[in-house]
Amino acid sequence: MRKYVIMGVQGSGKGTQATMLGEDLDLVHISVGEIFRLNVQQHTKLGAQVRRTMAAGELVGDDLVEGVVKARLAEHDWNFGFIIDGFPRNERQAEFFLESYDIDGVIHLDMPDSEVRRRVLARRLCSGCGMDYNLLASSPAVAGQCDVCGGELIPREDDTEEALAVRLRDYHQKTNPVLDIFRRKEYVVTVDARPDREIVQQAIRAKLGLPPRALPVPSQDGQPASSGQPASSGGQAGPQPGG
Ligand code: AMP
Repeated sequence: MRKYVIMGVQGSGKGTQATMLGEDLDLVHISVGEIFRLNVQQHTKLGAQVRRTMAAGELVGDDLVEGVVKARLAEHDWNFGFIIDGFPRNERQAEFFLESYDIDGVIHLDMPDSEVRRRVLARRLCSGCGMDYNLLASSPAVAGQCDVCGGELIPREDDTEEALAVRLRDYHQKTNPVLDIFRRKEYVVTVDARPDREIVQQAIRAKLGLPPRALPVPSQDGQPASSGQPASSGGQAGPQPGG
């Protein structure tokens, strides 16, 4: 059983790296932002509660977030463990989490704000199936259209200059102290999030003492056959499951 937290500023590749690690180790990937986005898309009561806060790039209230995390982890579908992304984001959430769960490590993806801005503003989301794209690394076959379901590709509502500025400020003010709490417990491994995503993934594994990831085996047509992750694409290449 392995329980990891992955942290990093928006656009640092948390969702991508968590998915890559989770697939291989059979860890359930829990993205709090993704749970909220699905609720907004499906017009649930929770979605209505968080939509405006999210669109402004602000943090949702702690009680609501903790309730969502508690309920998700109580599903106990994580026989081999979980990797949680986007939580905890402030000191109170960190304390709540440490009181309730033992964790094996915190993966901190390190990226300068200038690079975050470049990546986030190129991010698109499929309005149909929720798949994430990053136009810097790979464009869809038809501009503006999802390769998977043909849905329209739109920016995330919170991927604007204004909302990003709020999120970066919040991250530095509130999330850095969380890293300090985890560092005191010697949980944190810091990885440079700028290189190709395969390199970032191998660095994460090396620092956590995990075996390296087997690279996708090319099939006869030269496409990766096993994992579905292109081996040579950039850190945020798309499409990716949302997050
Ligand atoms: P993310 O996909 O992680 O960037 O999250 C998208 C949005 O969901 C954030 O900008 C917040 O509005 C909200 N959110 C996600 N996780 C949390 C959290 N741990 N605490 C408060 N708000 C959160």
